[in-house]
Amino acid sequence: MAVSLMIHGGAGAMRDPHRYEASLRAILESGASLLAGGSSALAVVAHCVALLEDDPLFNAGRGSVLNAEGEVLCDASIMDGRTLRVGAAAAIRGVRNPVRLAYEIMERSGHALLVGEGAQRFARARQLAFEREDYFKTEERIAQLAKAKRKRETALDHSEATDAKLGTVGAVARDRNGDLAAATSTGGMTNQLAGRVGDSPIIGAGTFADNASCAVSCTGVGEDFIRTSLARTASFFVEFRSMHAEEAARAAIRYLVDKVSGQGGLILVDRQGRCARAHSTPGMLTAQFAGGVARVDAT
Ligand code: ASP
Repeated sequence: MAVSLMIHGGAGAMRDPHRYEASLRAILESGASLLAGGSSALAVVAHCVALLEDDPLFNAGRGSVLNAEGEVLCDASIMDGRTLRVGAAAAIRGVRNPVRLAYEIMERSGHALLVGEGAQRFARARQLAFEREDYFKTEERIAQLAKAKRKRETALDHSEATDAKLGTVGAVARDRNGDLAAATSTGGMTNQLAGRVGDSPIIGAGTFADNASCAVSCTGVGEDFIRTSLARTASFFVEFRSMHAEEAARAAIRYLVDKVSGQGGLILVDRQGRCARAHSTPGMLTAQFAGGVARVDAT
């Protein structure tokens, strides 16, 4: 069966979208070659999201945005479309790759979601890599928080109001067996209250995958995606309204806008391996590999 992979680096108003192209392309190619070699969709979405977390250009892992107290707290989730197993971590500090923690939570905790210190203790017990605070905090993020504070706003990473145009990350894939998987990771929104958790670690809101329909990863104002269960809504459109990928992605974003005037975007791969993206923001950073063709869309 032909493999498909799509990744995203956030949605918003990008001032210089081309800045992200090389990184998106390299990460897409790395994931696509693993899929072509027979790796599972689950392993490949975790691999791609971990690479996006390591890249300080994006708002996840290293280079995450700062909350109102100047801290980096990360959220991530992963879902296996074959078994509907899930793993998620929220409000965690110091874990180098939050998506790896989400993966371990899925595989070994017997739970779906761990938060805060308990999640960090679990990460240590699983011997995941930790980094010091200054690894996560970039100069750009410190300046971005100062600007958001001056304007008294909580900003989407790619918001026009902030200078740095960096974003939450995610990946969706279909492997050679036709299995689907999705993963999402974020530092949240600039100047968010300490303790705020967005949609990214909430299964059904920011992430969803089911072999019966599709795999979805979202980005945008998390509250809007939680209120509309947007990732699950998109998969519902595929499963119960028989929409193909493009139709379902567009219908889900229309639903987001109609219901809550929501801001953001999503990527989706359906069970036939068709990829799609849709967004209500001016732009979105994505790259896809489908039908043997790679394409980067940074707008
Ligand atoms: N969805 C993320 C959150 O609300 C932010 C983003 O996608 O940039 O935490």
